[in-house]
Amino acid sequence: MSVEAGSAWEHGGIQYWGLSLSGIRTSLALPQHHLCFDVAQGFPFVLHLKKYFITHGHLDHAAGIPYIISQKAMHNEPSPDFYLPPSLLEPMTEMMRIWEKIEGHQYRFQFHPVAAGQSIELNQQYEVRVFPTVHRIESFGYSLVHKNKKLKTEFKNLSQAELAALRREGREIQDQVESIQCSFTGDTQIEFLDLAPEVRKSKVLFLEATYFDDKKSVEHARKWGHTHLDEIIPRLSQLECEKIVLIHLSSRYTTSEALKILKARIPREYQGRVILFPGR
Ligand SMILES: [Zn+2]
Ligand SMILES: [Zn+2]
Repeated sequence: MSVEAGSAWEHGGIQYWGLSLSGIRTSLALPQHHLCFDVAQGFPFVLHLKKYFITHGHLDHAAGIPYIISQKAMHNEPSPDFYLPPSLLEPMTEMMRIWEKIEGHQYRFQFHPVAAGQSIELNQQYEVRVFPTVHRIESFGYSLVHKNKKLKTEFKNLSQAELAALRREGREIQDQVESIQCSFTGDTQIEFLDLAPEVRKSKVLFLEATYFDDKKSVEHARKWGHTHLDEIIPRLSQLECEKIVLIHLSSRYTTSEALKILKARIPREYQGRVILFPGR
């Protein structure tokens, strides 16, 4: 039910590397796609990626941005692309100008503001899509979307020669099919599920779950823009995900404590689908 701390986790042919602990560190890398969601303090396994998608500016998610930029410069790698909430653009650029002053070096980087619903193309088959989340500061989540072409059902029984003939006539014989391989919420209240209902269909959903029991109340979680397990359990039936990976656990819980609570509280039919992501 849990992922070994510090090790990679794989599902559906995609590898995930990361660590997530509330207020301390959150970063999830998809090395096969050369990207990551949030950067924490800039872990070794995110330094050589190409695209960085930042959910929001809290330090446990975004402090590593200047460090990654400097590491790219040191290793003569192409300048990195960061996708971030628009309100982060000006202060982060300012931060880099100050760091350039400290280091006597001019850095190269691209900061791209994102908007809900926007798609960022990675290649012909994959794109990253931005969805809205609900937190104390401006925030967004990200989905990795796979785009595929599939033969239209009405042409299913035709021979290769017949299909070729249709193609020659200029007929469109394929439909575009999309599937959300994974979604990453960053920090959010549970209402993002209503703002972005398509996320419920993600094969893997990395879902914020900061508090698991009455160590902190639902009200407390909501006041700080977070989600409580009490709010997730009644929503499980809405989630069509193969795996629901809980991230951003409060450091008030040890891993074994958290696993014990999940075992006791997650209804039996969902036990195989709910996973705790490592944070330590
Ligand atoms: Zn956080
Ligand atoms: Zn936060």
